Amino acid sequence: MPFYDFQCEDCGNDFELERPISRRDEADCPRCRSRKVKRLVRSVNAITTGGGGGGGGCAPSSGGSGGG
Ligand SMILES: [Zn+2]
Repeated sequence: MPFYDFQCEDCGNDFELERPISRRDEADCPRCRSRKVKRLVRSVNAITTGGGGGGGGCAPSSGGSGGG
């Protein structure tokens, strides 16, 4: 079962619970046992930038400023 982040609207406690997807909105605060909790949206967007890993030093050597 996936984990979901919740925040209690009563005491403001934020906690994490393992709930099934079908009952992800049903949770109670483990601190004050309140049912007024709201599910937080966890940002799982993994920003991956292009480019393959690997060493190798192949720096384009540039030089020689134009003068004149
Ligand atoms: Zn609470």
